[in-house]
Amino acid sequence: MTDFIIDLATLKPTLNRVEVEEPAHEVGLVDADWPGGIRADLRVEKSGDRVSVRGSVTSSARLECVRCLRAFDLEVSGDLTVFAERSTAAKRAEQEALERDNYMSFHDGRRLDLCDAVRELLLLELPISPHCREDCPGLCRKCGADLNDGPCGCAV
Ligand SMILES: [Zn+2]
Ligand SMILES: [Zn+2]
Repeated sequence: MTDFIIDLATLKPTLNRVEVEEPAHEVGLVDADWPGGIRADLRVEKSGDRVSVRGSVTSSARLECVRCLRAFDLEVSGDLTVFAERSTAAKRAEQEALERDNYMSFHDGRRLDLCDAVRELLLLELPISPHCREDCPGLCRKCGADLNDGPCGCAV
């Protein structure tokens, strides 16, 4: 079982520090696209049936530069915040609506699954048009040479 599924029985009644390091496939991402795996440094607080999770999630995504088409790795990180209540069968429909609208999660009293929240957070942090570096010159429009390797000799 992945450490991104927190076993509530192991939590102390106050504040817990939970450090997780797992390969990307554990949260439903492709390992080849997230080659360094995923790290999280979380503070998990349990108060009765309510569990709150706050912390940071870090990974590095393998992306393709939109200008030069080279693959490069981009450090990706974001803040994870999850509030979870214990689910009850009677309120299932209400819970599903809450999960969609308010990012409220539910646990079954034994485990809190953070996989979806971690995956969504990382995907939201990805740039829409990734650049290998801010001033990447890209490819020559005439000969297609990668101008990161120097001038290609075509007239500008
Ligand atoms: Zn580039
Ligand atoms: Zn050229």
